[in-house]
Amino acid sequence: MKEKTCLALFSGGLDSMLAIKVMEAQGIKVIVLNFNTGFFFKNYKEIDGVLKYIKPTLPGIEVNVIDIRNDFFETLKAPAYGYGSNMNPCIDCKILMLTKAKALMSVYDAGFVITGEVLGQRPMTQNERAIKIIQKRCGLEGYLIRPLSAKLLDETEPEKLGWVDRNKLLDINGRGRKRQYELAKEFNIPEEYIQQPAGGCILTEEAYSKRLRDFLPDLSTEPEDRNLELKLLSVGRQFRKDKVKFIIGRNETDNKFLLRFKGLSEYSVFEPAEEIAGPVVITRNAISDDIKKFLAEATAAYSDGKDMESMDIIITNGNTMSKLTVKPGVKSELTKLRVDI
Ligand code: SF4
Repeated sequence: MKEKTCLALFSGGLDSMLAIKVMEAQGIKVIVLNFNTGFFFKNYKEIDGVLKYIKPTLPGIEVNVIDIRNDFFETLKAPAYGYGSNMNPCIDCKILMLTKAKALMSVYDAGFVITGEVLGQRPMTQNERAIKIIQKRCGLEGYLIRPLSAKLLDETEPEKLGWVDRNKLLDINGRGRKRQYELAKEFNIPEEYIQQPAGGCILTEEAYSKRLRDFLPDLSTEPEDRNLELKLLSVGRQFRKDKVKFIIGRNETDNKFLLRFKGLSEYSVFEPAEEIAGPVVITRNAISDDIKKFLAEATAAYSDGKDMESMDIIITNGNTMSKLTVKPGVKSELTKLRVDI
């Protein structure tokens, strides 16, 4: 019955969880949509992780993960409403997700859509002007309910039609979290979830955004390659010398991940030879002999052999392997080339 069913945009955060609970409390069936933009890997690594994490907190609720990575990437390159304080194109992102949700209403026989937005909480999207732009652009005018702040916003059609009881909706406003924490207790949401909700968009992080801004023009147009490159942006220390981007692993986990690129013809992988411990360094660009030497020196600079007169570095590109003997570079000089600090 569409008047008793809604779709909920669910980011994994506490507010969207509470919005779902508020609607359920008045007998509305909620079907959850979790949109995968490709940038939600703060608290979980893969999309399966999202489901594993949120399912126990939403017993009996249908959760659908919708892959919007390709559409989102187009939005990210040139958002009509610009970026937030980092590389987060929040207004365009909301419009994209809600447009998709609107298209899915008939699929799930839902009468309206809800979100966990709270008026005045986020400067970019949760002010009255942005809220109006978003609902107009996504075509959900009158059929989009923000249960946590609904009493402060215009009455929607489902409220006017009596599908939803406006009196049971809330009037939360601003950045404080006290009301949300109280509600979370009322709804028996586990403490661990309140402390560390599953949500988190990595585009709001400054360091990641610097890396992305630097690399955006170079990202592959081929989706599979691009998704791997985006993952690479979370790994290691990231540098650029002239046009050449390179990554130096910080620890064993980084190095293991970077070694996955060994043997691929598009990547050159640098490692200290034999028994000297050190980082894995990679670059995707075709490189000149000068850059090859420079990257070998950088690899040596971050290795245990950094104080040696010279050391051997192995370079692998596709099936080809070569060795260079270099004097370790100077870390402080390399730090000036970081794109993420
Ligand atoms: S924080 Fe990220 S996921 Fe959330 S609206 Fe902004 S861009 Fe979209």
